[in-house]
Amino acid sequence: MKRVLIRIRGRVQGVGFRPHVFNLATALSLKGTVKNSSKGVTIDIEGERVDEFIKRLRTSPPPLAEIEEIHTEELPPVNYSDFSILHSEEEGSFTHVSPDVSICDDCLKEMLEPSDRRYLYPFINCTNCGPRYSITLKLPYDRPNTTMKVFQMCSDCLREYQDPRDRRFHAQPNACPSCGPSLTFRLTNRELEHLLTEDPLESTIRLIQTGGVVAIKGLGGFHIACDALNTRAVERLRVRKRKSNKPFALMAPEIDAVKRFVHLESEDERLLSSNKRPIVLLRKKERCPIPEAVAPKNSYLGFMLPYTPLHYLLFYYPVSGVAQPNFQCLIMTSGNLREEPIIHRNQDALERLSPLVDAFLFHDREIFMRVDDSVIKEGVFIRRARGYVPEPVMLDDEGPEVLAVGADLKNTFTLTREHYAVVSQHIGDMENFETLCFFEEVLENLKSLYRINPMHIAADLHPSYMSRQWAERQGIPVTYIQHHHAHAAAVMAEHGIKEQVFAVVLDGTGYGTDGTVWGGEFLMAGIDGFKRLAHFEYLRLPGGEMAIKEPWRIAVSVINDLYGGQSQRYLSALGYYDRFPPAQIESIRKISRLTHFSPKSSGAGRLFDLVASITGLVDLNTYEAEAPIALESMVCDAVDEGYGFSILTDSIPWRVSFKKALNQMIDGVLRGEAVEIISTRFHNTVAEAVCEVMERLRDREGGLAKVVLSGGVFQNVYLLRRIKKGLKSRGFQVYFHKRLPPNDACISLGQAYILRERLNGL
Ligand code: ZN
Ligand code: ZN
Ligand code: FE
Repeated sequence: MKRVLIRIRGRVQGVGFRPHVFNLATALSLKGTVKNSSKGVTIDIEGERVDEFIKRLRTSPPPLAEIEEIHTEELPPVNYSDFSILHSEEEGSFTHVSPDVSICDDCLKEMLEPSDRRYLYPFINCTNCGPRYSITLKLPYDRPNTTMKVFQMCSDCLREYQDPRDRRFHAQPNACPSCGPSLTFRLTNRELEHLLTEDPLESTIRLIQTGGVVAIKGLGGFHIACDALNTRAVERLRVRKRKSNKPFALMAPEIDAVKRFVHLESEDERLLSSNKRPIVLLRKKERCPIPEAVAPKNSYLGFMLPYTPLHYLLFYYPVSGVAQPNFQCLIMTSGNLREEPIIHRNQDALERLSPLVDAFLFHDREIFMRVDDSVIKEGVFIRRARGYVPEPVMLDDEGPEVLAVGADLKNTFTLTREHYAVVSQHIGDMENFETLCFFEEVLENLKSLYRINPMHIAADLHPSYMSRQWAERQGIPVTYIQHHHAHAAAVMAEHGIKEQVFAVVLDGTGYGTDGTVWGGEFLMAGIDGFKRLAHFEYLRLPGGEMAIKEPWRIAVSVINDLYGGQSQRYLSALGYYDRFPPAQIESIRKISRLTHFSPKSSGAGRLFDLVASITGLVDLNTYEAEAPIALESMVCDAVDEGYGFSILTDSIPWRVSFKKALNQMIDGVLRGEAVEIISTRFHNTVAEAVCEVMERLRDREGGLAKVVLSGGVFQNVYLLRRIKKGLKSRGFQVYFHKRLPPNDACISLGQAYILRERLNGL
């Protein structure tokens, strides 16, 4: 007989770990105890087959668990009489919080089984599935510490909850129709009253089937739903959403339904059906019946599979006795206004979303932490939120507790503790008050969940960033990290890099150390600092911020510079006089050389904006990066060559000029060359320029081999692949994001990494 004390670290709480241990120990006739501890789970176990127990724990943990470390220590036997689950220990160090998990197959089967007591119950869940982060008020993860505390379990549910052999043993959100949350339906468009029935789900489904739009409370917030194949419904929603062209997310009942609309690689299929259930961006099929208005000028559609029981019921609730799903495809877009955070309370939804929808499907399980859907495109995170947050990023060694407040667009923040960095969910654009409140709400929550009390803050250098100004009001020391340095550091953090590396950061806007706007940057970056080695040639932004929303302004200024006295002729040939009033074009030409009205920017995003306008694709960005996305959507694989460019080395930093490319491109447009060809040649040019600059920089700077890539422009996967390939073929080791988006959502991790490593080095 042997007694061993086993300490397990990792994601082992709130994932059914203790009952799993209980059942395994009982099956092997072992005695002892298991409890949640501050560092994970502690098992005190004795008997004959302890080694087998450890082996099986390692090889087949419960589905949602992730074991990082198992530490064992042999102790003198004490002759336990049975095996028991002890109460949680409080206090101590880092404890993992599980992200929200999609409904499991067992629960789905039960929900669709007429004899089951949870038949068609929209809040069915078990230890292996259901809400977690979004309902957790505090740790330890026990029912009174979740928003389920207001529901008293009935005797049947309690029996399951208390039985270690039951799949619902200690399933904190456990519920059934007689004791748990329920749905309510609220019609706001009186014209549709005739569709109303007693049954909230049936009313919802009928309303959507007849072209209505319904706000549906979900797991992490509200969705706005309508029938994606009903062009009129989709177009009405577009108009109500104030004509922004931002793509709507789609939900299809199963993988085969998705395949009807888009091309699906096996890796995407795996992601779509994983229990994280992100939105996956997929290439539209040639004759795809989804209306263009779902994602205008975009070759990708964002699909997800149902991830809550309620989602499945929207598709499979028996309404008219037909055996087919109720819908082939639904729009399930975030329930928010413009760039504000997703709405999560019934009352807020009623007040704010009423102008957008005809009805509401509410439920009464409170969402504590709102968390938007995650978005992934060909393996690259576009938005990291539900299903992934708050899983920490592991850092190499332990370090001090810091807070990094990120950037103002696509904001996230990062908290560090021990060897973990907890990156918040997507917060949003800090320009509005609601987002700032959301930032504070999530920050307070994550600080208390992980018991982190940061004594240092890292912020962006930009003097007018709300995030920086917020940081300066906290009364703790603030360290400023330049935007593109932070981009580079985020990749370094994800790969555990601490030495100096090359960085290519291509994004839209970041405040430079010289006060100008940067964004097409070649850096040498390390923990201690960075050097700007080269950058894209500056473009003028006539009207400043306005030029980011209206790329045609940049185009007019560039054409003005390129063709001087001939520029009117070119502007007219390119169609600008057909698209804009002459007086407006004239005034842009006038201000485009005035530094005060037309600040300069090396942002790579602006170059893509400019080209999208010149080719006539997009003149106005109704949402961020609309123009570059439209341009990327035109890329075809048939073209391999590019245009000319030059590297200006007369001063340091070097400048990369695309003048030649623009000339050739404009000639192409005027010759009537296909946009697909022009777009592809343009992409190839940028990739080629990046690779050549890097090769020459390597010669100049004495042979560094590692290059990190970051910045929102790398959401463009054609460009990403081409640059990766080009750099690798030139002998570089290329590093890119694995767990975070390349856009500004990664900034906080980079800031935190630099600050923490610097403090570590003191
Ligand atoms: Zn389940
Ligand atoms: Zn019950
Ligand atoms: Fe950026």
